[in-house]
Amino acid sequence: MEIIKTVREMQEISIEQKQKGKNIGFVPTMGYLHEGHLSLIRKAKEMSDIVITSIYVNPTQFAPNEDFSRYPRDFERDKELAEKAGSDFIFYPSDNEMYPNGFDTMVLVDTVTKKFEGEKRPTHFNGVATVVTKLFNAVMPNIAFFGQKDYQQTLVIKKLVEDLLFPISIYIVPTLRQSDGLAMSSRNVYLSTYERTRADIIYRTLITAKEAILKGEKRRKIINAIMLNSLRSEPLVKIDYASAADANDLSEPEEFNSGQLVVLLIAVYIGKTRLIDNMLVTIPQF
Ligand code: AMP
Repeated sequence: MEIIKTVREMQEISIEQKQKGKNIGFVPTMGYLHEGHLSLIRKAKEMSDIVITSIYVNPTQFAPNEDFSRYPRDFERDKELAEKAGSDFIFYPSDNEMYPNGFDTMVLVDTVTKKFEGEKRPTHFNGVATVVTKLFNAVMPNIAFFGQKDYQQTLVIKKLVEDLLFPISIYIVPTLRQSDGLAMSSRNVYLSTYERTRADIIYRTLITAKEAILKGEKRRKIINAIMLNSLRSEPLVKIDYASAADANDLSEPEEFNSGQLVVLLIAVYIGKTRLIDNMLVTIPQF
Protein backbone atom coordinates (compact mmCIF):
# COMPACT_ATOMS: atom_id res chain seq x y z
CA MET A 1 0.00 0.00 0.00
CA GLU A 2 1.28 3.45 -0.90
CA ILE A 3 0.80 6.71 1.00
CA ILE A 4 0.18 9.69 -1.28
CA LYS A 5 0.47 13.18 0.14
CA THR A 6 0.04 15.54 -2.80
CA VAL A 7 -2.93 16.18 -5.07
CA ARG A 8 -0.70 16.16 -8.16
CA GLU A 9 0.70 12.69 -7.40
CA MET A 10 -2.75 11.36 -6.51
CA GLN A 11 -4.15 12.58 -9.84
CA GLU A 12 -1.22 11.08 -11.78
CA ILE A 13 -1.74 7.69 -10.12
CA SER A 14 -5.48 7.74 -10.80
CA ILE A 15 -4.99 8.69 -14.44
CA GLU A 16 -2.41 5.90 -14.84
CA GLN A 17 -4.72 3.33 -13.21
CA LYS A 18 -7.62 4.39 -15.40
CA GLN A 19 -5.44 4.16 -18.52
CA LYS A 20 -4.73 0.56 -17.50
CA GLY A 21 -8.50 0.04 -17.51
CA LYS A 22 -8.79 -0.13 -13.71
CA ASN A 23 -11.91 0.89 -11.88
CA ILE A 24 -11.20 3.13 -8.86
CA GLY A 25 -13.21 2.85 -5.64
CA PHE A 26 -12.82 5.70 -3.13
CA VAL A 27 -13.48 5.78 0.63
CA PRO A 28 -13.20 9.27 2.14
CA THR A 29 -12.61 9.27 5.93
CA MET A 30 -11.31 11.45 8.73
CA GLY A 31 -9.23 8.55 10.03
CA TYR A 32 -9.15 6.91 13.47
CA LEU A 33 -10.52 3.97 11.57
CA HIS A 34 -13.00 1.51 13.07
CA GLU A 35 -14.95 -1.45 11.71
CA GLY A 36 -17.51 0.90 10.13
CA HIS A 37 -14.81 2.50 7.96
CA LEU A 38 -13.31 -0.91 7.23
CA SER A 39 -16.68 -2.19 6.00
CA LEU A 40 -16.62 0.66 3.45
CA ILE A 41 -13.09 -0.29 2.35
CA ARG A 42 -14.07 -3.98 2.08
CA LYS A 43 -17.14 -3.10 0.01
CA ALA A 44 -14.97 -0.87 -2.20
CA LYS A 45 -12.53 -3.77 -2.69
CA GLU A 46 -15.41 -6.02 -3.68
CA MET A 47 -16.76 -3.53 -6.21
CA SER A 48 -13.61 -1.99 -7.73
CA ASP A 49 -10.11 -2.93 -8.95
CA ILE A 50 -8.21 -0.29 -6.98
CA VAL A 51 -9.22 1.13 -3.59
CA ILE A 52 -8.11 4.57 -2.47
CA THR A 53 -8.87 5.61 1.11
CA SER A 54 -8.41 9.23 2.13
CA ILE A 55 -7.54 10.22 5.66
CA TYR A 56 -8.06 13.91 6.25
CA VAL A 57 -9.59 15.70 9.23
CA ASN A 58 -11.22 18.54 7.32
CA PRO A 59 -11.07 21.81 9.27
CA THR A 60 -13.78 23.55 7.22
CA GLN A 61 -16.52 21.18 8.39
CA PHE A 62 -15.91 21.98 12.08
CA ALA A 63 -17.27 25.16 13.69
CA PRO A 64 -14.84 27.08 15.94
CA ASN A 65 -16.52 25.68 19.10
CA GLU A 66 -16.35 22.04 17.87
CA ASP A 67 -13.80 19.26 18.37
CA PHE A 68 -11.42 19.77 15.40
CA SER A 69 -8.23 20.08 17.46
CA ARG A 70 -9.03 17.16 19.76
CA TYR A 71 -10.52 14.91 17.05
CA PRO A 72 -8.77 11.52 17.54
CA ARG A 73 -5.89 10.76 15.16
CA ASP A 74 -3.62 7.69 14.82
CA PHE A 75 -2.14 7.47 11.35
CA GLU A 76 0.16 4.48 12.02
CA ARG A 77 -2.75 2.35 13.20
CA ASP A 78 -4.99 3.59 10.36
CA LYS A 79 -2.37 2.58 7.80
CA GLU A 80 -2.28 -1.00 9.05
CA LEU A 81 -6.06 -1.33 9.29
CA ALA A 82 -6.70 0.19 5.86
CA GLU A 83 -4.13 -2.07 4.23
CA LYS A 84 -5.54 -5.22 5.88
CA ALA A 85 -9.05 -4.27 4.74
CA GLY A 86 -7.83 -4.00 1.14
CA SER A 87 -6.88 -0.39 0.48
CA ASP A 88 -4.24 0.02 -2.25
CA PHE A 89 -3.47 3.69 -1.60
CA ILE A 90 -4.01 6.14 1.22
CA PHE A 91 -4.43 9.75 0.19
CA TYR A 92 -3.11 11.67 3.21
CA PRO A 93 -2.87 15.37 2.34
CA SER A 94 -1.77 18.17 4.68
CA ASP A 95 -3.96 21.19 5.44
CA ASN A 96 -1.65 23.27 3.24
CA GLU A 97 -2.17 20.85 0.35
CA MET A 98 -5.96 21.01 0.67
CA TYR A 99 -6.37 24.67 1.64
CA PRO A 100 -3.28 26.59 0.49
CA ASN A 101 -2.99 30.30 1.30
CA GLY A 102 -5.51 32.23 -0.73
CA PHE A 103 -8.08 29.40 -0.92
CA ASP A 104 -11.31 31.26 -1.60
CA THR A 105 -14.04 28.94 -2.92
CA MET A 106 -16.73 26.98 -1.06
CA VAL A 107 -19.36 24.57 -2.39
CA LEU A 108 -22.91 25.02 -1.09
CA VAL A 109 -25.66 22.43 -1.44
CA ASP A 110 -28.71 24.44 -0.47
CA THR A 111 -32.05 22.88 0.43
CA VAL A 112 -31.17 19.50 1.88
CA THR A 113 -28.65 21.13 4.25
CA LYS A 114 -31.20 23.47 5.87
CA LYS A 115 -32.57 21.11 8.55
CA PHE A 116 -31.39 18.75 11.29
CA GLU A 117 -27.55 18.59 11.17
CA GLY A 118 -27.46 21.66 8.95
CA GLU A 119 -29.58 23.66 11.38
CA LYS A 120 -27.52 22.62 14.40
CA ARG A 121 -24.18 22.94 12.57
CA PRO A 122 -24.80 25.74 10.04
CA THR A 123 -21.37 25.67 8.32
CA HIS A 124 -20.83 21.90 8.50
CA PHE A 125 -22.20 20.77 5.13
CA ASN A 126 -20.50 23.61 3.24
CA GLY A 127 -17.23 22.22 4.57
CA VAL A 128 -18.24 18.65 3.68
CA ALA A 129 -19.36 19.56 0.14
CA THR A 130 -16.18 21.57 -0.42
CA VAL A 131 -13.77 18.91 0.81
CA VAL A 132 -15.58 16.09 -0.99
CA THR A 133 -15.47 18.10 -4.23
CA LYS A 134 -11.72 18.59 -3.79
CA LEU A 135 -11.17 14.93 -2.86
CA PHE A 136 -13.18 13.81 -5.90
CA ASN A 137 -11.01 16.03 -8.11
CA ALA A 138 -7.82 14.68 -6.52
CA VAL A 139 -8.79 10.99 -6.53
CA MET A 140 -11.00 10.91 -9.64
CA PRO A 141 -12.81 7.73 -8.58
CA ASN A 142 -15.40 5.78 -10.57
CA ILE A 143 -17.35 4.98 -7.43
CA ALA A 144 -17.28 6.51 -3.94
CA PHE A 145 -18.46 4.84 -0.74
CA PHE A 146 -20.24 6.60 2.12
CA GLY A 147 -21.84 5.29 5.33
CA GLN A 148 -25.55 5.44 6.06
CA LYS A 149 -24.44 6.44 9.57
CA ASP A 150 -24.25 10.04 8.30
CA TYR A 151 -27.63 9.90 6.58
CA GLN A 152 -28.12 13.56 5.73
CA GLN A 153 -24.55 13.68 4.41
CA THR A 154 -25.41 10.91 1.93
CA LEU A 155 -28.26 13.08 0.56
CA VAL A 156 -25.91 16.07 0.33
CA ILE A 157 -23.28 14.05 -1.56
CA LYS A 158 -25.83 12.58 -3.98
CA LYS A 159 -27.15 16.09 -4.74
CA LEU A 160 -23.61 17.46 -5.14
CA VAL A 161 -22.72 14.72 -7.63
CA GLU A 162 -25.95 15.19 -9.56
CA ASP A 163 -25.85 19.01 -9.67
CA LEU A 164 -22.13 19.43 -10.43
CA LEU A 165 -22.06 16.55 -12.96
CA PHE A 166 -19.38 14.43 -11.27
CA PRO A 167 -18.99 11.21 -13.30
CA ILE A 168 -18.94 9.22 -10.05
CA SER A 169 -21.38 6.63 -8.68
CA ILE A 170 -22.26 6.86 -5.00
CA TYR A 171 -22.69 3.67 -2.97
CA ILE A 172 -24.16 3.80 0.54
CA VAL A 173 -23.00 1.16 3.05
CA PRO A 174 -25.26 0.20 6.02
CA THR A 175 -24.30 1.35 9.54
CA LEU A 176 -22.03 -0.99 11.47
CA ARG A 177 -22.93 -1.27 15.16
CA GLN A 178 -21.44 -2.53 18.41
CA SER A 179 -23.18 -5.54 19.99
CA ASP A 180 -25.48 -3.28 22.07
CA GLY A 181 -26.53 -1.37 18.93
CA LEU A 182 -24.38 1.75 19.36
CA ALA A 183 -23.28 2.90 15.90
CA MET A 184 -19.51 2.73 15.50
CA SER A 185 -17.98 6.20 15.46
CA SER A 186 -14.54 7.69 15.95
CA ARG A 187 -16.16 9.94 18.55
CA ASN A 188 -17.21 6.98 20.76
CA VAL A 189 -13.73 7.16 22.37
CA TYR A 190 -14.81 10.42 24.02
CA LEU A 191 -17.39 8.50 26.12
CA SER A 192 -16.49 7.61 29.72
CA THR A 193 -16.99 3.97 30.72
CA TYR A 194 -20.29 4.85 32.39
CA GLU A 195 -21.50 6.98 29.49
CA ARG A 196 -20.65 4.14 27.12
CA THR A 197 -22.92 1.75 29.07
CA ARG A 198 -25.82 4.22 28.68
CA ALA A 199 -25.25 5.16 25.01
CA ASP A 200 -27.31 2.23 23.70
CA ILE A 201 -30.40 4.37 24.44
CA ILE A 202 -29.98 5.86 20.94
CA TYR A 203 -30.35 2.53 19.16
CA ARG A 204 -33.10 1.36 21.54
CA THR A 205 -35.01 4.56 20.78
CA LEU A 206 -34.72 4.02 17.02
CA ILE A 207 -35.98 0.45 17.42
CA THR A 208 -38.91 1.57 19.61
CA ALA A 209 -39.99 4.12 17.00
CA LYS A 210 -39.53 1.64 14.17
CA GLU A 211 -41.72 -0.90 15.98
CA ALA A 212 -44.44 1.72 16.49
CA ILE A 213 -44.37 2.51 12.76
CA LEU A 214 -44.51 -1.17 11.84
CA LYS A 215 -47.57 -1.52 14.11
CA GLY A 216 -49.30 1.23 12.13
CA GLU A 217 -48.22 4.62 13.52
CA LYS A 218 -47.99 7.15 10.66
CA ARG A 219 -48.38 10.47 12.48
CA ARG A 220 -45.04 12.25 12.42
CA LYS A 221 -45.50 14.15 15.67
CA ILE A 222 -46.46 10.96 17.52
CA ILE A 223 -43.41 9.15 16.12
CA ASN A 224 -41.24 12.08 17.22
CA ALA A 225 -42.84 12.04 20.68
CA ILE A 226 -42.09 8.32 21.03
CA MET A 227 -38.42 9.04 20.30
CA LEU A 228 -38.26 12.06 22.60
CA ASN A 229 -39.89 10.17 25.49
CA SER A 230 -37.55 7.24 25.07
CA LEU A 231 -34.45 9.46 25.01
CA ARG A 232 -35.66 11.43 28.03
CA SER A 233 -35.68 8.20 30.06
CA GLU A 234 -31.87 8.46 30.15
CA PRO A 235 -30.71 11.38 32.33
CA LEU A 236 -27.29 11.59 30.62
CA VAL A 237 -28.91 12.47 27.28
CA LYS A 238 -29.31 16.02 26.01
CA ILE A 239 -31.39 16.02 22.83
CA ASP A 240 -30.41 18.06 19.75
CA TYR A 241 -33.16 16.54 17.60
CA ALA A 242 -35.12 13.31 17.22
CA SER A 243 -37.28 13.49 14.12
CA ALA A 244 -38.94 11.38 11.48
CA ALA A 245 -38.72 12.67 7.90
CA ASP A 246 -39.15 11.55 4.33
CA ALA A 247 -35.98 9.61 3.53
CA ASN A 248 -35.56 11.13 0.07
CA ASP A 249 -35.98 14.85 0.70
CA LEU A 250 -36.29 15.17 4.51
CA SER A 251 -39.74 16.76 4.18
CA GLU A 252 -41.93 16.51 7.27
CA PRO A 253 -45.61 15.81 6.46
CA GLU A 254 -48.19 15.63 9.26
CA GLU A 255 -48.74 11.99 8.34
CA PHE A 256 -46.64 9.60 6.27
CA ASN A 257 -48.20 7.54 3.46
CA SER A 258 -48.31 3.77 3.12
CA GLY A 259 -45.17 2.61 1.33
CA GLN A 260 -43.28 5.85 2.08
CA LEU A 261 -39.64 5.42 3.09
CA VAL A 262 -39.04 7.29 6.34
CA VAL A 263 -35.76 8.09 8.08
CA LEU A 264 -35.64 8.39 11.87
CA LEU A 265 -32.88 10.87 12.70
CA ILE A 266 -31.33 11.35 16.13
CA ALA A 267 -28.62 13.70 17.38
CA VAL A 268 -27.91 13.78 21.12
CA TYR A 269 -25.21 14.62 23.58
CA ILE A 270 -24.26 11.84 25.97
CA GLY A 271 -22.47 13.93 28.56
CA LYS A 272 -20.27 16.18 26.41
CA THR A 273 -20.09 13.86 23.40
CA ARG A 274 -22.36 14.55 20.45
CA LEU A 275 -23.54 11.39 18.65
CA ILE A 276 -25.81 10.93 15.63
CA ASP A 277 -27.64 7.89 14.34
CA ASN A 278 -30.57 7.02 12.09
CA MET A 279 -32.77 4.21 10.87
CA LEU A 280 -34.82 3.68 7.71
CA VAL A 281 -38.38 2.33 7.93
CA THR A 282 -40.99 1.79 5.23
CA ILE A 283 -44.52 2.70 6.31
CA PRO A 284 -46.47 -0.57 6.03
CA GLN A 285 -49.28 -1.04 3.53
CA PHE A 286 -52.41 -1.93 5.49
P1 AMP B 1 -15.76 9.81 9.17
O1 AMP B 1 -14.35 9.37 9.30
O2 AMP B 1 -16.52 9.84 10.45
O3 AMP B 1 -15.91 11.09 8.36
O4 AMP B 1 -16.49 8.69 8.32
C1 AMP B 1 -16.01 8.31 7.05
C2 AMP B 1 -17.06 7.48 6.36
O5 AMP B 1 -17.33 6.32 7.14
C3 AMP B 1 -18.40 8.23 6.21
O6 AMP B 1 -18.95 7.92 4.93
C4 AMP B 1 -19.22 7.65 7.32
O7 AMP B 1 -20.61 7.70 7.09
C5 AMP B 1 -18.72 6.21 7.36
N1 AMP B 1 -19.00 5.61 8.66
C6 AMP B 1 -18.74 6.14 9.88
N2 AMP B 1 -19.20 5.33 10.85
C7 AMP B 1 -19.78 4.27 10.23
C8 AMP B 1 -20.46 3.09 10.69
N3 AMP B 1 -20.63 2.84 11.97
N4 AMP B 1 -20.91 2.21 9.76
C9 AMP B 1 -20.75 2.48 8.43
N5 AMP B 1 -20.13 3.56 7.94
C10 AMP B 1 -19.65 4.44 8.83
